Amino acid sequence: MSKITFPIGGVHPHDSKIAAQRPIEMLPLPPVVYVSMAQHLGAPAKPVVAVGDSVKVGQVIAEPGGFISAFVHSPVSGTVKGIAPRKDLAGNPVLHIEIAVEGDEWMEGIDLSDTLVTDIPDDPAVIIEKIKACGVVGLGGATFPTHVKLSPPPGKKAECLILNGTECEPYLTSDYRIMLERPKEILVGAALMQKALGGCPCVVGIEENKPEAVKAMRAAIEELGWQQKPVRIAVLKKKYPQGGEKQLIAAVMHREVRSGALPIDAGAVVQNVGTSLAVYEAVQKNKPLITNVLTVTGKLLPAERQHNYLFRIGVPLSFIIEQAGGEPDGAVKLVSGGPMMGKAIANPDATTVKGSSSVLYLGAEDTVRKEASACIRCGRCADACPMGLEPFLLNRLCKAGDLEGLEANAVQDCIECGCCLYSCPANIPLLDRIRIAKGQVIGAIRARAAAKKQ
Ligand code: SF4
Ligand code: SF4
Repeated sequence: MSKITFPIGGVHPHDSKIAAQRPIEMLPLPPVVYVSMAQHLGAPAKPVVAVGDSVKVGQVIAEPGGFISAFVHSPVSGTVKGIAPRKDLAGNPVLHIEIAVEGDEWMEGIDLSDTLVTDIPDDPAVIIEKIKACGVVGLGGATFPTHVKLSPPPGKKAECLILNGTECEPYLTSDYRIMLERPKEILVGAALMQKALGGCPCVVGIEENKPEAVKAMRAAIEELGWQQKPVRIAVLKKKYPQGGEKQLIAAVMHREVRSGALPIDAGAVVQNVGTSLAVYEAVQKNKPLITNVLTVTGKLLPAERQHNYLFRIGVPLSFIIEQAGGEPDGAVKLVSGGPMMGKAIANPDATTVKGSSSVLYLGAEDTVRKEASACIRCGRCADACPMGLEPFLLNRLCKAGDLEGLEANAVQDCIECGCCLYSCPANIPLLDRIRIAKGQVIGAIRARAAAKKQ
């Protein structure tokens, strides 16, 4: 058994990878897509098309709205029918471009062949520019624009690129499937990012519950003849949240990213394996980020109704649900993402975005929580917290509305992993409260910093 893991906290939920054996299938084209302008971290993108315009697959339809932002491309060919606010997953209004699908005509220059392209451009700037032009963002959850992450600020140097293949959230299997089905492309994507970062080594972290993925990635290194290259596979202990950036850095590099610091301050750049595949497609195939893989899963679905779909980004969730046979009997909650960090789907008419990773059906067995009772001061939440926080104390400060106390006790370091909630015998809604308080404290910190600048 692997001993490599992060040192503090963590929990061991059942991994429930029910869809793991289902190969990636192509989701059919829907009649209409709604492409969100806010599907990456940072400023929303600004539309550059107008109602009535014809667009092709891969055409730029929105440009970055700031330094931290990303290009958005049309996932389909057709006619722009509307540019208007539409409700996102949580029911909040977000600007979307509506495109009626007509045929499937791609922009010239996008290589749709299966031919593997392994030549790495000599100039890092060429790689970074291509990644930016293709709208690549982190697909591990944070959706941070990849070209920014691959451009460390002056004075900072990447000493290690860590590829996150842990997929530690229960139920999710899209990363697992791409490691089985596209391992060479992922490795070439990693080599491109290594080049962009100045030639640092790369470690691919995979949890021990995915031995087939470890085998496939190791075989791909051999088949590429890359045994002498600075890339290796690290098998990590199965422990949630192994895929958290700070936890991966601690596990692989034995370094701590201190409060308020960034991974690059510890010499690390962490990218998801899905992002690496997107980088490969952008740089080597000229293909913008218009597709991703999403898992449809849950214990309520029989094996044949579990899916890993290659979908066009902007397809409505309701279309995916329909294609997968509709909502199963007994479903009481629909989640986008895993059960630990995912978000409840309040609006099934919402559209998929670059970071969409799953449609997860939860039944009563998975969701019914006993009523919260008083804290019994057992300390399990603090033992489970991978950030070394004291969730019981944060909960008390939340209830008192004590923002100063929350900041002094580092609520801003919370990674919203849910380990505290998972381990609390009193069923106290720790994560919900802490998440809201964290938002308020970060808002106050930013306001203070802005006032200082004036
Ligand atoms: S959600 Fe936040 S407070 Fe709770 S265990 Fe995770 S990091 Fe700690
Ligand atoms: S786990 Fe729950 S009951 Fe135990 S100390 Fe934390 S908040 Fe209190």
